Amino acid sequence: MITKKNISVLGGGCAGYSLVKQISKINKVKIDFYLGSNINKNNFWGFWKFNDFDFPTELLSGKWHKWKIITNRCESIFESIDHPYCLISRDKWINHCKDEFNKSNINFYNNDVFEEGGVLKDDNGKKISSDLIFDSRSLRINERTYVQHFKGFVIESDKECFDESTAILMDFRCDQSKGIQFIYLLPFSKKIALVEPTVYSFDIKADSFYFDSMKKYLKNNYGLDNFKLISEEKGAIPLSFINNENTNNSINIGIRGLANRQSSGYTFYFIQQQVNKIYLDLSKNKKPSNTEIHSSLINFLDKIFLDVLKTNPARASEIFDAFGKSFNGDEMAFFMSSKIKYKSLLRMIFNLPFKIFMNSFLRCFFK
Ligand SMILES: Cc1cc2nc3c(=O)[nH]c(=O)nc-3n(C[C@H](O)[C@H](O)[C@H](O)COP(=O)(O)OP(=O)(O)OC[C@H]3O[C@@H](n4cnc5c(N)ncnc54)[C@H](O)[C@@H]3O)c2cc1C
Repeated sequence: MITKKNISVLGGGCAGYSLVKQISKINKVKIDFYLGSNINKNNFWGFWKFNDFDFPTELLSGKWHKWKIITNRCESIFESIDHPYCLISRDKWINHCKDEFNKSNINFYNNDVFEEGGVLKDDNGKKISSDLIFDSRSLRINERTYVQHFKGFVIESDKECFDESTAILMDFRCDQSKGIQFIYLLPFSKKIALVEPTVYSFDIKADSFYFDSMKKYLKNNYGLDNFKLISEEKGAIPLSFINNENTNNSINIGIRGLANRQSSGYTFYFIQQQVNKIYLDLSKNKKPSNTEIHSSLINFLDKIFLDVLKTNPARASEIFDAFGKSFNGDEMAFFMSSKIKYKSLLRMIFNLPFKIFMNSFLRCFFK
């Protein structure tokens, strides 16, 4: 027998909207959706396309069948027909979710939700009481968290200089003295691109750092002095799981629910998988029991990879050279999407500098 379920969803970001889009379609579900008072700025989410995440292709802001990793020593080029690198904007995705909502099943609240003595309350002091609570409220990142932080600039240059056929996922030809830095460059056309200086470190830099780095990169590698700034995005994604206890039997989702991939910060595609898992359980009238997305093997490998980087930051580009040599395009798309192919995984392990890999392996194994 299907019983009526009252569900609260906390946090109006990627995970909150994606979940409500799916579960509002289930009959007998009533949703209280607490969006929070903060207005989120637009940004882009990149991911590799797989058939287990279906979306209207007109939502995409960009799609590349070729992508590159560039270091001072070499350039690795990847190509995939079936699994292109795709880009979607936050605004378009959220609007798509809104279009798909079954609104008659949803009450919307702009309130923030807080915890008081182990109880979740809205900012009027009203207790959140539902059969199920899904919590995606943002977490505070402290200075002990290793993060990937970045500022991205969509720019229009005064000359045709970008190769629009190929996304650059990492270009290490930039200053490495302030932490591991690379440039992420997505060309929308020959003149327009998202250029995003990205750093792996514990401290987040001042805004001017990213702007100066972007300017210098464009000058040194594209001979570009003049460009128009179209838009900006800024973010910091934890390169670890931030421990967060569940309040009041709530179920954490999104970054709060450990959907982020620890080594890369990629999260968007994994949120869609997490949401789908929950949807399938709820539509069978089951309480979602396991919302973990990444296998123990992936988590362990990511820990080793991060340990290698943290203990050998000066050798980052060499490590990514080894990473690049280990995969073809399809294999890389699978690996980055947490779909392990053992042959390419072994190739990657053998390509990494043996001594530093072994040291990190042992450190992570015995920790
Ligand atoms: C600029 C940027 C670029 C990114 N690029 C990529 C990418 O290319 N690919 C990728 O896979 N991932 C990317 N990520 C990582 C990840 O996909 C996003 O961070 C994603 O938004 C995570 O979804 P979420 O729902 O967990 O968190 P969020 O989308 O941040 O949502 C959390 C929500 O909780 C709300 N909230 C906060 N406090 C409260 C409260 N007290 N009560 C109620 N609500 C509250 C916030 O307002 C927010 O709406 C990027 C992140 C950023 C910031």
